Amino acid sequence: MKLEIACPKCEWKPDGGAHWVCTCGHVWNTFETTGKCPNCGKVWKDTACPTIPGGCGAWSKHINWYRNLDDTMRDEIEEILNEESTKAKLSTDKNTPNT
Ligand SMILES: [Zn+2]
Ligand SMILES: [Zn+2]
Repeated sequence: MKLEIACPKCEWKPDGGAHWVCTCGHVWNTFETTGKCPNCGKVWKDTACPTIPGGCGAWSKHINWYRNLDDTMRDEIEEILNEESTKAKLSTDKNTPNT
């Protein structure tokens, strides 16, 4: 079964483009990485609906964008989000990026 992804507020579907910008300045497709910035490792538990490609601009929980998730997959994604955010926090504590 193919996972469906859509904005919980307006039903906009990600088109595979890089529409999300991290606080580090990196631009990427957040659904390729379960909300994790591939540049700095920050995990975005909330995902904005990008207005430029036609979304509504509202923020929703990253997990709520996934449709037809069964309980096992939901648990797995939540685990990734929780684990990665702990790791990201630890690594940013250690290496403060040069600004
Ligand atoms: Zn980043
Ligand atoms: Zn939307």
